Amino acid sequence: MSETRRCPYCQRSFLSSRYRPQQEVCSQPECQRRRRADYHRKKIAQDPEYHQVVLESQKKWRAQHPDYDQQRRQANPKLVQDNRERQRHRDRKRRLQRLAKNNLALDLKHSASEAWLLGPKLRDLDKNNLASAQVLILPLLTSVASRADPS
Ligand SMILES: [Zn+2]
Repeated sequence: MSETRRCPYCQRSFLSSRYRPQQEVCSQPECQRRRRADYHRKKIAQDPEYHQVVLESQKKWRAQHPDYDQQRRQANPKLVQDNRERQRHRDRKRRLQRLAKNNLALDLKHSASEAWLLGPKLRDLDKNNLASAQVLILPLLTSVASRADPS
């Protein structure tokens, strides 16, 4: 028996398939692709065994296509640049979180990701667009900063 439903992706009404009465997503290829991708993501998050299988099959695929990453990087220099940028961002954020953790004088516990630091590094941070980490270096922290942060 068919039933009229509304597709959660494209918001269009559709008639559920007679063979799949539970169908919740319309049959357009794009909506089906999204349904599969969402299922995959959810399954990875919820099922460690499934996640493991996915990781292993990715590893196997990469072993069988050793040139893929390199070719991809060569074909997309921007990708490399973006990755480098993100890694720098992560490194810096980690350093600052460590710094916040190490600093017992200040109560930064409640805001590891929102630590505010002020001072000489500010311009540097500004330049690297660390807006999402919302970091502010306090002048008092400079000595701690240079001790905890070798760079
Ligand atoms: Zn749809």
